[in-house]
Amino acid sequence: MDNFCSGRLKTVFGDITCLEVDAVVNAANSSLLGGGGVDGAIHRAGGPNILAECRDIRAHRYPDGLPPGKAVLTTAGDMPSDYIIHTVGPIWHGGKTNEREVLASAYQNSLNLASETGIKKLAFPAISTGIYGFPKKIAATIAYETIIEHLKKNSLPREVTLVFFSEHDEQSFLSAVDKSRLSV
Ligand code: ADP
Repeated sequence: MDNFCSGRLKTVFGDITCLEVDAVVNAANSSLLGGGGVDGAIHRAGGPNILAECRDIRAHRYPDGLPPGKAVLTTAGDMPSDYIIHTVGPIWHGGKTNEREVLASAYQNSLNLASETGIKKLAFPAISTGIYGFPKKIAATIAYETIIEHLKKNSLPREVTLVFFSEHDEQSFLSAVDKSRLSV
């Protein structure tokens, strides 16, 4: 585990569904109806209530699906956290279709929703870096800068944990970010 920004931003590797935090961010797809990777793991761990709430959001707020970059909140079912923030990252198409901006929005809108909901401890997976193919080092810089800027301006969330699925991914994130700018 690495720990910086006066302890407000941490990294860890492991399964995000086991974390004892107030809210976990899901790298969902626009359907909100479940999928592979972290999305599948969250729905398996949380049980059917999450899917029922997602269906309700689709029916009433996003009949055409949640657009990439947006975020919505559900409860977390059987998971140890209270809430899931579902966001949709961009699919990487080579970097010429606003993928960087959409990824920054996915982080920003998730952070805004966490602040509005009063969430103190929030955990993110590495959005878009799995099935969606976003290069991990570019994604690391975007995640890091978006989170640091938010923490500088807001007291909530108090603590953000970036969860990587392997120690290698965690180390690659840490080598990609500029550690000279760590103070909030
Ligand atoms: P996307 O479709 O946004 O790329 P994925 O779920 O395929 O989402 O992958 C996002 C990242 O989450 C990848 O780096 C993947 O290794 C990681 N990941 C997959 N399952 C878990 C899990 N249970 N806990 C934490 N990270 C996970």
